[in-house]
Amino acid sequence: MADLSETFDVLVAGGGNAALCAAITACRAGARVVVAEHAPRAMRGGNSRHTRNLRALHHGPTGVLTDSYLEEEYWDDLRRVTAGKTDETLARLCIRASEHAPGFLESCGVVFQPSLSGTLSLSRTNAFFLGGGKALVNALYRTAEALGITILYDTEVQHIVVKDGFATEAIVSHRGFPARIRFKAFIASAGGFQANREWLRRYWGDAADNFQIRGTPYAQGRVLKDLLAQGVQEVGDPTQFHAVANDARAPMEDGGLAMRLDCVPFSIVVNRDVERFYDEGEDVWPKRYAIWGRLIAQQPGQVAFAINDSKAQMDYLPPVFAPYRADTIADLAAQIGLDAAKLEKLVADYNAAVRPGTFKAQSLDDCRTEGLSPPKSHWARRIDTPPYYCHPLRPGITFTFLGVKVNERARVMMQDGTPSANMFASGEIMSGNILGQGYLAGFGMAIGTVFGRIAGEEAAKLVRN
Ligand SMILES: Cc1cc2nc3c(=O)[nH]c(=O)nc-3n(C[C@H](O)[C@H](O)[C@H](O)COP(=O)(O)OP(=O)(O)OC[C@H]3O[C@@H](n4cnc5c(N)ncnc54)[C@H](O)[C@@H]3O)c2cc1C
Repeated sequence: MADLSETFDVLVAGGGNAALCAAITACRAGARVVVAEHAPRAMRGGNSRHTRNLRALHHGPTGVLTDSYLEEEYWDDLRRVTAGKTDETLARLCIRASEHAPGFLESCGVVFQPSLSGTLSLSRTNAFFLGGGKALVNALYRTAEALGITILYDTEVQHIVVKDGFATEAIVSHRGFPARIRFKAFIASAGGFQANREWLRRYWGDAADNFQIRGTPYAQGRVLKDLLAQGVQEVGDPTQFHAVANDARAPMEDGGLAMRLDCVPFSIVVNRDVERFYDEGEDVWPKRYAIWGRLIAQQPGQVAFAINDSKAQMDYLPPVFAPYRADTIADLAAQIGLDAAKLEKLVADYNAAVRPGTFKAQSLDDCRTEGLSPPKSHWARRIDTPPYYCHPLRPGITFTFLGVKVNERARVMMQDGTPSANMFASGEIMSGNILGQGYLAGFGMAIGTVFGRIAGEEAAKLVRN
C-alpha cells in the first residue's frame, strides 16, 4: 500500500504513453515519482494501449523504417492536414525530437517491427510496436515499476490545488476513498475528454449520444476541466476531434482499432436520406481516414452506409463484422432500411458518371467520375457486379483537441501569459497546441513521447533546484 502522507517530487496524472514517458524520464533524472492512473490495472494505459505505431523522423533506413523521412516533408505533411492550424515552433520541435522517440521507447523495453501491410501504407514514416500498444504499455509499466516509481491504480485525480500558477497537492479518489497527494511538480497527462458525453453534448447536442468512443472510457477530461477553471490557458477548438468511420455495430466504448472500416475509398457512401455527401476518393486513405468520422457525425442520425460490389472485396482490410450482402441493390437497400428506388437511381447515376481508367488500389489512380456532385476523384469503378455489399458506419471518436497551452519546455501556460511555476503537460491533453484540426497517422504517440520526455526532464530539473 502506497504511503500517500509523504510529499513526492513529481505527481503524474494519467497512465498512458505520455504519462509513463514523463514518469520514467523524471525518475531516471533522480526524481521520486508517483503516477495516478484512474483506470484499474487491467484497464491501464488509456488510448495508448490501442495504438500500433509512431511517426518518426529519420535520415536513412533504420531497423524498421525504410528510406528517409526528413523534417521538411514531415512538417509539410502536418501543415497540410492541419490546414496551417498548428504552432510551428512546437510542431517542428516535436518533429525533430521524434527521431529519438523509438530509441527512448526501446530503452524502456518496447520492441519495434516493420510496418504491416494494409490500406494505411506507412512503412516509410511509421515505426510499428511489436504486439501493438498493449505490449508498449506493458513494457513501460514494467520499466516504471523496476525504477521504483509508485503507481496508483483506481486513482482519479479530481482537483489540483493551484495558487498563482503554483500547484501543491492533488485531491484524488483512491480506490473509492478520498485522499490527497502532495508534490513539488505536477505533470498533466490525463488525455482528452472524448468519453465525456455530457461535455460533447455541449457542442454536438443529442448527436453525441451516437458517437462511438474508440478508446478508453476514462477519458473524462476531469484534469483538463479543473486546470482550465483555475487560470490555465486553453488551446484548440473544443468542437474538433479526431474521428474515423467505425462499424456502426461496434461497442459504444473501447472497441479499438479493429472497429475502424477502411472500405470508404473503394465504395460510395450515402447517408440515411440516400445522399452522397463527400468525395470518397479525394486522397490516399492515410491522409483522409481521420476526416470521415466527423463527416458522418454531421449526417442525420450520425449514420452512413458504404456500398460496393464484389470487385472491391479484396481491396481493404477485412472487417470484424460481416457486411450486409445482397444480389440486387434493391434487396441491399431493404436490408439496411434505405429507400430502394432512391438507392437504385443513385447507383445508376454514379455508374453513368464513372470514366474508364486503370484501377490501382494503393495509389492515386485515374478512375474518376465526371459530372457528379460530389465527385469521386479516384478509385471510381462501376458498382455492377453482384453480390453487392454494405458496411454501416458511425463516427468513432479517437480524441478531442481542446487542451492546455504549453511552451517549448512542456510547461503549462497561465491565462496571464506566464508559465506555471511547476505544472507541465504531455500527450493528448496538450495535443491541441499542434493539432488545430486534422491528423497525421502516428503523430499522437510522437507528441506523447516527445512532450512526455520534456515534461519529465523539466519537472525533475525543477525539483532538483
Ligand atoms: C483505437 C485507437 C488507435 C490509435 N492508434 C494510434 C496509433 O497507431 N498511433 C498514434 O500515434 N496514435 C494512435 N492513437 C491515438 C493515441 O492513442 C493517443 O494519441 C495517445 O495514446 C495519447 O497518449 P496519452 O498518454 O496522452 O493518452 P492516453 O493513453 O489516453 O492516457 C490517458 C490516461 O489518463 C488517465 N486518466 C484520465 N483522467 C484521469 C484522471 N482524472 N486521473 C487519473 N488518470 C486519468 C486514463 O485512464 C489514461 O490512462 C489511437 C487511438 C485509438 C483510440
